[in-house]
Amino acid sequence: MIKVKKRKILLLPGDGIGPEVIAEVKKILEWLNKNKSLDFEIEEGLVGGISYDKHKNPITDEVFYKALESEAVILGAVGGPKWDNLEFAKRPERALLKLRKELKLFANLRPAICFKQLVDASSLKPEIISGLDIMIVRELTGGIYFGEPRGIMPIENGERKGLNTHSYTTSEIHRVARVAFELAKKRKNKVTSCEKSNVMEAGVLWKEEVQALHDKEFKKIELKHMLADNCAMQLLRDPKQFDVIVTDNLFGDILSDEAAMLTGSLGLLPSASLGTKDKNGKMRSMYEPIHGSAPDIAGKNVANPIASILSLSMALRYSLDLDTEANLIDSAVQKVLDDGLRTKDIMSSEKKEVGTSVMGDAIISKLK
Ligand code: NAD
Repeated sequence: MIKVKKRKILLLPGDGIGPEVIAEVKKILEWLNKNKSLDFEIEEGLVGGISYDKHKNPITDEVFYKALESEAVILGAVGGPKWDNLEFAKRPERALLKLRKELKLFANLRPAICFKQLVDASSLKPEIISGLDIMIVRELTGGIYFGEPRGIMPIENGERKGLNTHSYTTSEIHRVARVAFELAKKRKNKVTSCEKSNVMEAGVLWKEEVQALHDKEFKKIELKHMLADNCAMQLLRDPKQFDVIVTDNLFGDILSDEAAMLTGSLGLLPSASLGTKDKNGKMRSMYEPIHGSAPDIAGKNVANPIASILSLSMALRYSLDLDTEANLIDSAVQKVLDDGLRTKDIMSSEKKEVGTSVMGDAIISKLK
């Protein structure tokens, strides 16, 4: 068989359960290398608290440059109580923020999928949630989390004022909306854009610019505008009305967490953060499960590796153009759930409880 060119993938396991779940991702990459004639060059690096312990820095320049050179970065999770009292610049999360900022990862994609086998894990009624498959696209590098001026300042009457600035430009809105429209083309052709145009000028601009891009380049996609507070309500009332939701950094932070919890299973949900393409068409990207480092279960071989394994599948699909292999992983996960295997977090009666590594092995066995 013809071998495809070497493609660099950087694994950053991080802290807590990160190394346990990323070990299962590595097993799958090695399986793909061996059995699908792929030629991934797999590198690893320290980030977060573990990097601080060794280098007094949550991410070293060496690891950062490896990330710059990779076609995709797959990260486990960072943080934990051991590092909670460090000064801000040394905290594990700074590694994540540096990667997002320097790799210019402006679009965060979070699917909220309800696996049919796990309908009962949701707090919503099965008929509302069953078959749910939505994608939230959150703008990640602009808006109120980055806008200037910002700060806490004294004011005349002895009080203090906290200030943040919510601002977006046409190009910032267009590049994230374009990601949403392109995704919709491969899905159900529907985009809902959310803002607060009733009370915010930046929201008026958001709505107008998304509409303008739609009218110019994506006329065939159905576009709907919705106020962000209404969207929060509609996600609980009738989430299946949505296909792709695109929104800014602040509203996206909240709406994507809400959508994730609709499915009731934190250990199953992946995410992708995508950057701009350079002149060679190469796009920077980072993939990670949405859960954190879960210090309460770290080192016990009970963490659910599925969110990380599905993050790998997103990397294959969005960064490496390997849709067939991505589909293979997605259906292997479905088959394992069909067989009744469950990690502790999604365990229910009459199912078989397995640990992290057995779950990974079972998924590999279904790839064959
Ligand atoms: P968490 O997501 O780590 O854990 C929340 C709960 O879900 C815990 O009970 C945990 O055991 C469980 N859980 C999470 N992932 C699981 C999995 N794969 N399998 C089984 N159970 C799982 O959130 P938290 O407790 O709020 O945060 C813990 C640490 O993680 C903190 O230091 C926080 O800052 C950090 N964190 C990191 C990231 C990231 O790296 N992207 C994201 C969120 C939180």
